[in-house]
Amino acid sequence: MNWFYIFALFLFGLPVGSFLNVVIWRLPRKENVVFPPSHCPICNAKIRPYDNIPIISYLILGGKCRDCGAKISPRYPVVELITALLFAVALPLTGWTMSWDLLAALILTGTGIAIAAIDIEHRIIPDELSFGGLIAGVVLAPLRAESFYGLLWGIVGAVSGAVLLFIVRIGGKALFRREAMGWGDVKLIAMIGVFVGWEGVLMTVFIASVIGTIGGIIGMITSQKTRKDREIPFGPYLIAAGIIVFYFGDKILKSYLSLFEF
Ligand SMILES: [Zn+2]
Repeated sequence: MNWFYIFALFLFGLPVGSFLNVVIWRLPRKENVVFPPSHCPICNAKIRPYDNIPIISYLILGGKCRDCGAKISPRYPVVELITALLFAVALPLTGWTMSWDLLAALILTGTGIAIAAIDIEHRIIPDELSFGGLIAGVVLAPLRAESFYGLLWGIVGAVSGAVLLFIVRIGGKALFRREAMGWGDVKLIAMIGVFVGWEGVLMTVFIASVIGTIGGIIGMITSQKTRKDREIPFGPYLIAAGIIVFYFGDKILKSYLSLFEF
């Protein structure tokens, strides 16, 4: 029976992923995310309902618009699949029950996927997403903790994350004389902080720096492009690290602290 619920969440994730694709395309272009209905960006033809089925339509159409044959970005099926997979694993990772933690996981991953895709393409993190996620996290924090102190925990997490990245931003500017991190990253870590708390937010920045450095080295080896082009923004690393810490932060912290027990 448990597999049924995992599959149901996977199926739920597919249309959510489709909606995130709309957000990813329209939000940085300042377009309304609800209206008008989806249309081809090249020939403007309205997308028919049967051509708007997550992943399947992309495969049937061979990644091309039915009307003008323009290539459809593989980002569409990729975002749909990643959303569905992350939604599916959220259930076992939050304890197999319908809980506020599960809802928090879905909101954190859904918002995170949209932010990561927009940051990679446009090098911006829309306030609508980071503040939207922050507000959702603030509302969920006391419900998840079943205590009003959860609210305090979430806010302390958000503030400590923002302060930490603010210091990194100022320090980075002084050391390297360039923008290592934008305000968008500071607001993003505040959003993540409300979901993972202050210990989690420290871990998130640390893990993001480690995987960011690894990613940077891989990019340097594999890419022929100029330095500026291959530079990957920090946002997606923060999100990946934030999701890891949301699920495994307690375990990581415990095993780290156990290193100091004799
Ligand atoms: Zn078209």
